Amino acid sequence: MTGLTEKFERYPLSFGPTPIEKLARLSDHLGGAVEIHAKREDCNSGLAFGGNKIRKLEYLVPDAIAQNCDTLVTIGGVQSNHTRQVAAVAAKIGMKCRLVQESWVPFNDAVYDRVGNILMSRVMGAEIELVDEGFDIGIRESWERALEDVRAKGGKPYAIPAGASVHRLGGLGYVNFADEVREQEKALGYAFDYIVVCTVTGSTHAGMLVGFAADGRQRNVIGIDASHTPEQTRVQVLDIARNTAGLIELGSDIAEDDVVLKTEYAYPEYGVPSEETNEAIRLCARLEGMMTDPVYEGKSMQGLIDLVRQGFFPSGSKVLYAHLGGVPAINGYSYLYRNG
Ligand SMILES: *Cc1c(COP(=O)(O)O)cnc(C)c1O
Repeated sequence: MTGLTEKFERYPLSFGPTPIEKLARLSDHLGGAVEIHAKREDCNSGLAFGGNKIRKLEYLVPDAIAQNCDTLVTIGGVQSNHTRQVAAVAAKIGMKCRLVQESWVPFNDAVYDRVGNILMSRVMGAEIELVDEGFDIGIRESWERALEDVRAKGGKPYAIPAGASVHRLGGLGYVNFADEVREQEKALGYAFDYIVVCTVTGSTHAGMLVGFAADGRQRNVIGIDASHTPEQTRVQVLDIARNTAGLIELGSDIAEDDVVLKTEYAYPEYGVPSEETNEAIRLCARLEGMMTDPVYEGKSMQGLIDLVRQGFFPSGSKVLYAHLGGVPAINGYSYLYRNG
């Protein structure tokens, strides 16, 4: 265990530990030498379909409340899962929500800005500003302007950067994930050899690195880049991991080589699926009834499948695929999947 529970307050926003499910038909289909399980972070909360940002926000909300803030201010793409989860959390805790949604994805489905995540954020009462700027996981001027605007109108904003990642407390949620997996492993009677996770703004992967470093498994966390700006993502993962390790007083350093990031699946661009991504989405849906999306989990599923086929995982390995959510965005790709 990491000692996280004693050091940081957590505001519960989820159902509790997420289920671990064996993907028997997918494992068999890929030859049966590797046993694939999924940890269902996509089913973690009743807050507007949940997802990985809920687990991160559990550690930010106590800070927002302690600072007497009244408005959560964040940023993402038009079909951002993160902004939808922040909107849901704001509703749940009785704060206002201000969202900046940029044009991060060059995708032109006619209903793209009206369905899925952004539809839900609007229904939940978030104030949304659409900004015509391209993809960037760093700190954005549009977000800083929104924070200033809330202040100018007499509000007290709480600043949440993209993906809740470059925030002092952003890595803690997935340290908690590692503690939770260790508890579940005790009950299962075995430990997972690898954890596969989709990586973009970085705090999910970074938190896992720190959490699994507690028992020396940090290099067994295999990040699948979906940003298509992998060097920026890699640096951000390392920064967040080191900051988080310091916060929880991990007692050992995170090395550059601890960040294992597979960069060959993010093509052609952030938010745009390749034919191989679509095949992975269909395969997983048809063998397991488990939906993944074209932006994030479809790419990490593609990576998982390819790594199994390549023999990356030794025979007999138990692999835990972290399903981080994101399915609502698939509605923005209705034309692409019109025939399934
Ligand atoms: C945000 C998100 C990710 C990426 O997580 P980061 O912490 O930004 O790296 C992966 N999958 C889904 C569904 C997400 O919403």
